[in-house]
Amino acid sequence: AAATTPRRQSPAGAGSPSQRDARWGDTSSYGARKKHRVFCQLPNSDWALCTVITTSGDDSVLKLPEGKVLRLKTESLEAANPEILDGVDDLMQLSYLSEPSVLYNLQYRYTQDLIYTKAGPVLVAVNPFKKVPLYGNEYIDAYRNKTKDSPHVYAIADSALREMKRDEVNQSIIISGESGAGKTETAKIAMQYLASLGGGGGIEYEILQTNPILEAFGNAKTLRNDNSSRFGKLIEIHFSTTGRICGAMIQTFLLEKSRVVQCAVGERSYHIFYQLCAGAPASLRDKLNMKKADEYKYLKQSCCYSIAGVDDAQMFRTVTEAMNIVHISKEDQDNVFTMVSAVLWLGDVSFTVIDNENHVEIVVDEAAETVARLLGCSIEDLNLALSKRHMKVNNENIVQKLTLSQAIDTRDALAKSLYASLFEWLVEQINKSLSVGKRRTGRSISILDIYGFESFDRNSFEQFCINYANERLQQHFNRHLFKLEQEEYVEDGIDWAKVEFEDNQNCLNLFEKKPLGLLSLLDEESTFPNATDLTFANKLKQHLNNNSCFRGERGKAFAVRHYAGEVAYDTSGFLEKNRDLLHMDSIQFLAKCKSSLPQMFASKMLSQSDNPLPVPYRNSAADSQKLSVAMKFKGQLFQLMQRLESTTPHFIRCIKPNNLQLPAIYEQGLVLQQLKCCGVLEVVRISRSGYPTRMTHQKFARRYGFLLLEDVASQDPLSVSVAILHQFNILPEMYQVGYTKLFFRTGQIGKLEDTRNRTL
Ligand code: ADP
Ligand code: MG
Repeated sequence: AAATTPRRQSPAGAGSPSQRDARWGDTSSYGARKKHRVFCQLPNSDWALCTVITTSGDDSVLKLPEGKVLRLKTESLEAANPEILDGVDDLMQLSYLSEPSVLYNLQYRYTQDLIYTKAGPVLVAVNPFKKVPLYGNEYIDAYRNKTKDSPHVYAIADSALREMKRDEVNQSIIISGESGAGKTETAKIAMQYLASLGGGGGIEYEILQTNPILEAFGNAKTLRNDNSSRFGKLIEIHFSTTGRICGAMIQTFLLEKSRVVQCAVGERSYHIFYQLCAGAPASLRDKLNMKKADEYKYLKQSCCYSIAGVDDAQMFRTVTEAMNIVHISKEDQDNVFTMVSAVLWLGDVSFTVIDNENHVEIVVDEAAETVARLLGCSIEDLNLALSKRHMKVNNENIVQKLTLSQAIDTRDALAKSLYASLFEWLVEQINKSLSVGKRRTGRSISILDIYGFESFDRNSFEQFCINYANERLQQHFNRHLFKLEQEEYVEDGIDWAKVEFEDNQNCLNLFEKKPLGLLSLLDEESTFPNATDLTFANKLKQHLNNNSCFRGERGKAFAVRHYAGEVAYDTSGFLEKNRDLLHMDSIQFLAKCKSSLPQMFASKMLSQSDNPLPVPYRNSAADSQKLSVAMKFKGQLFQLMQRLESTTPHFIRCIKPNNLQLPAIYEQGLVLQQLKCCGVLEVVRISRSGYPTRMTHQKFARRYGFLLLEDVASQDPLSVSVAILHQFNILPEMYQVGYTKLFFRTGQIGKLEDTRNRTL
C-alpha cells in the first residue's frame, strides 16, 4: 500500500463550537439526509440531537427530542454518529469526533451512571456527585479477574500494577482536573484497588488512613467543593519484589496558608479547626482552653461553620483513630492539637495603641495568655515578638516599634507559618511511619492528585504557580501520548515519518528562562526592598513584550497564553506572597518557646535558610534568608517531573459536570471547556489525524473473510485481508498494512460493517 505521511497540525485550542471545524474531517460524508440524526445548536449554545425531517435549499427542518420542530441552516448542523455508537466506552470508536459527538457520548453514559469513558489511552471520569454502584470488593474482584473490562479507575490501577510487575518499571497515575472534579476521590479509589490487590501485610491499611489525616489538615470547604484539597499531593506506594505493598512516601505541594488567617464568606478554614472545636473530649478541651468555632476571629470572618452532611465531632474521632493507626503517639497528637488551638487563639490576640505614632502593644487578655501558655513562652516574649522588630540600620542594631497594621501582619504571618510548619511536620511523621527504609527492593506506583489549570475572573500568585505546574504536566502528557502513538506505528512497520508537533515549550520558556523569564524576573524584583507589584508588572512588560506567549495588560496586569487558553494575572500581592517572609524575630521567638513543636519548627526554618537568595532580598539584616516560594515550587516541580519521567504514566482526567455539586446535571459548556483544558479533545484529534482504527490480520480476515467472492479458505490471514481491501475498493491512502495489524483512517471500517450486517 502506498504510504502517506500524516502531518500533524498545531494543537491550537478548538475554535468556537458553532464553526464547522475542518480538522474534525469526514463531515463531507454526512449530508443532511432525511431521518438522519444530526446535532443542532440551540440558542443557549447547547447541542441537541435531532432528526432531519426535510431539507430544502440551504435549510433543514429538524425534530428535537421533545417533539419540537425547528428550521435551521443546513451548514450549521453537525453530523451525529449512528445509533449503534451511542454510549461507546472509548471515544476513539466514534465515527464522528466533533465536539457535540464527544459531549453527547459522555452525557449518554453519564445519565446511566457510566461515569468512566476512555479517550484512547486516557480515562475520563465525570463526577457523579452521588454514590454510584461501581465500587467495592465485588467490582475489585471483577477487574482483577478480568471479568469486567469497562473503563474504570480500577482498570487503570490494574494495568499499573500489571505493567509494574511485567516490565519492572515504576508506574504513575496522574490525575488532574478542576477543583471539585473528583481528583481526590479518584486517587482514593485507585489506592483502595492497589491496597486490595497488593495488601496482606497490614501496611496498606495504614496507607489508606493517611487520607483522613491529610484531608483534616489540608482540606477545606470552598465555594467549589465542600472538601477541597488546598495542597497538591504525590503518594508513592512501594511494592516488594513479590508485589506486596511494603510502604509509602507522601510529598505535598504548595499548601494554601493564607486560608488560616483569611477566608471568603461561605468558605471555611481547614477542617481540623472545626473538628477540634466540635470533637475534642472534655479533658483536651480544658487543657487547650477551646471555645466554640464561632467564637474565634479567624473562623468567624467567613460566617460558615458547618458542612451539610458532615459531623465534625465524628470526623475528629476518625482523624485521631487514623493518627493512632499511622503510629502518631498520643503525646504527639496532643502536641499537634496544642498548635491547632494556639493558631486559633493567636487570631484573637489584639493590640492597643500606645502612642500617637500608632505603635502598639498586645492586650494582655485570655487570648494572649492562652497563646503564651500553649506555645510555652512568657507574655513579654509574645508581646516583643508581635510588637517590636530588630533592625540593622547603618550597621547598628535598633529596635523598631510596630504600628497596628504591622503588628497584625506579624501576628498573621506567625499563625500561617505555625500552621504550615505543623502540616509539614505531620507529613514527615507519616512518612517516617510508612517508610520502607533500606529494605526497599521492589518497584512503586505513584499517584499524583494535583490542582488542574485554573482561570478565574481574578488570577493571582496561586493561579500563576498552579498553571505553571500544569504547563509542565501538559508537556509530559503530550510527549508521552505522541511517543505511545509513534511506537505503535513503528513497531508494526508503518511508515510514520518523524512526527512534528508543536508543544508548549515556548510557554514553559516564558516561565523558566534565565534571566529574562517570569520566574527569574519575579525573584529579582522580590529582592528589591522598594519594588512594588506595579514595578514588577512594568518590568515584565519591559522585557517580555515581544514574547508570543506574553501580553502586557494595563496597570498591574499581564496575560500568559497557556496551552489551555489565555489567562490574565493581577500582580497584586505577587511580591509579598513570593517572599513569604517570616521575620527573624518570629523565628527566634519560636526557638525560645518551651513547647516541643515550635522549637522544632524554628530549627527547620533556620536550616532551610542555608540556601539564601542574594543579599538585597533581605530587607533588613535580621530577616530570614530563604528560598522564594516560586523557586521552591519550581524545584519541587522539577523533582516531580524527574520522578514521573522514569515511570510509565497512566492518565485520568476528572470532569465536573456542574458547579452546583449536584447529581444528574450535565452542563455541556462547562464540560466542553474542561475537555479542552485537560487535553482530551486534543488526544482525540491527534489520534484522528493518524490511523485510529486498528485490527490484527487474523481478526480482520475472520470478521470479513466470508464476504469475499473468491475462495480463500487456504490462504494466510494477511492475504485474505489484502483481498478484502481490494474487493471493497478501500483506497490505498485510507489504510496501511503493518506486520501484525491493519491500520485504518477514521470511518473506513463502517462500509465493511454495513455489508457484514446486511449479509449476516
Ligand atoms: P477534587 O479533589 O478534584 O477537588 P474531590 O475528589 O474532592 O474533588 O470531589 C469532590 C466531591 O465530588 C466529593 O466530595 C464527592 O462528593 C464527589 N465525588 C467525586 N468523585 C466521586 C465518585 N467517584 N463517586 C461519588 N462522588 C464523587
Ligand atoms: Mg482534591
